[in-house]
Amino acid sequence: MKKVFKYLNPLSHLGDRYYSWIFPFVANLVLCICSEVYAYSIAKNPMAVGVYIIFLNVAFIIYFAFREGIVGGFISTGVTIAYYFYIIYTRHYSGSQYTSGIDTTIILAILYFIIAFIIGTLKQQIDRLIDIQSDERKRLEAIIQQLPTGVIITDNTGTVTHINKQINKILGLKIPIGFKIGTDNITKVKINGDAIDPTQASTIYALTKGKSITGRDLLFERKDGTLAYLQVSSAPITNKKHKIIAAASIITDITQQKELERQKDDFLSMASHELKTPITSLKMFIDLQDKQIIEKDAKKVKYFNERIRDQANRLKELTNDLLDVSRIQTGKLAFNKEAFDIAEIVTDTVEGLQATTKRHKIEVESELKQIVQGDRYRIYQVLVNLLSNAIKYSPQGEKIIVRVKKIKQNVVVSVQDFGIGIEKSQQDKIFDRLYQVTDPEEKTFPGLGLGLYISKEIIERHKGKLWVESAKGKGSTFYFSLPITSKKGNI
Ligand code: ADP
Repeated sequence: MKKVFKYLNPLSHLGDRYYSWIFPFVANLVLCICSEVYAYSIAKNPMAVGVYIIFLNVAFIIYFAFREGIVGGFISTGVTIAYYFYIIYTRHYSGSQYTSGIDTTIILAILYFIIAFIIGTLKQQIDRLIDIQSDERKRLEAIIQQLPTGVIITDNTGTVTHINKQINKILGLKIPIGFKIGTDNITKVKINGDAIDPTQASTIYALTKGKSITGRDLLFERKDGTLAYLQVSSAPITNKKHKIIAAASIITDITQQKELERQKDDFLSMASHELKTPITSLKMFIDLQDKQIIEKDAKKVKYFNERIRDQANRLKELTNDLLDVSRIQTGKLAFNKEAFDIAEIVTDTVEGLQATTKRHKIEVESELKQIVQGDRYRIYQVLVNLLSNAIKYSPQGEKIIVRVKKIKQNVVVSVQDFGIGIEKSQQDKIFDRLYQVTDPEEKTFPGLGLGLYISKEIIERHKGKLWVESAKGKGSTFYFSLPITSKKGNI
């Protein structure tokens, strides 16, 4: 409305500061001039305007006080009173019959100013309330938009009044303001696999039953067919008279959480299985060893002792891996820093692992001495991981080649096998915690999917890189680089 007035007002270009007093001033002046012209030129009687002008003046004062506040009201009153004094002066001294005195005019002036003041103050209060309300609305809107979860607020009919952009992202569709929840099944929402009736939506429940719903888990099918696990909470909003006037719903995408829970469950069953295998073997070999107390076959005793040692080592490796993962997660994986020859560690590790396999021949192609800074034991651990994977994942393969090369300021160690290989799409994922490439047609290999995750963390903490080049069915080459001159910097 104010915009329309501004448009009609020829002085609006002067801005609000002038607008509030110039417009009432000019309008009142025009009114006074019109009444004078009417009295003298049309009615030809100075008294013709008389009482009628008073109504118009009061109407103008009320109008401008309400439109422009106290300033507008006072300007209108000022011009009006000045005109009254002008009438008294001209009519009185020109010898007319005009008898209205100064006292009446002063009383009228006081009355007008009081009217202007009351209405002007009222108008300012209303403006202030409107401003507060619009500030509140803006603040609420900003808060809603900033929330990391999806928020929908509806009125008491379930019509959306506020919605944030997170909702669109979570649901993969745009719900417009004004959309009535529960009237249309725009989405396929399921609880425990059964599609739910849209009228049973949490918002509608909150509005009709007047009760809150907290943490309702839903399986939601987006338009593109992807599934999302959502958690919905809805609460009715009541006024002072306890009448439900709106409902607020919060929607959180818990798909990742669910996936983590699933991974944890899988991990627990896998870890218990992995731990159970060496424990069962240990028990079996100890039982067999018991027999040797009677049989006293030294060869068998030695053989069973070796197997017991193998299984105990396997248990140690598994528990160490589990401990390392929890150290990485809590930021407590500690490193000792020293200078050592990586070529020497490679040769030692190969020697150790060669003893564990008869099928494979591990070859080393190493350049000179390469001194790096870091934790000797942890780098040894990475090499053991890569080499034991090379052995494990090349059940048919015979050769494994380990290379040590200096490339610019880095030493690059690679472990090449000619085993099952890894598909391109899986090559990034194998470094993730618990990730294992599973192919139902392939033989499943023992392991927890932790070795590469731990190795990557160790190498990156040494400011190096760990990566893979592989072709499915042909074999894989795992590389890691370490800076040669990493004298400074913490690991
Ligand atoms: P684990 O071997 O205990 O499963 P890793 O973290 O060492 O865990 O390896 C993760 C996954 O990467 C393995 O499950 C396997 O699918 C794949 N992988 C690792 N090394 C090789 C390799 N040399 N050849 C083929 N696949 C490999």
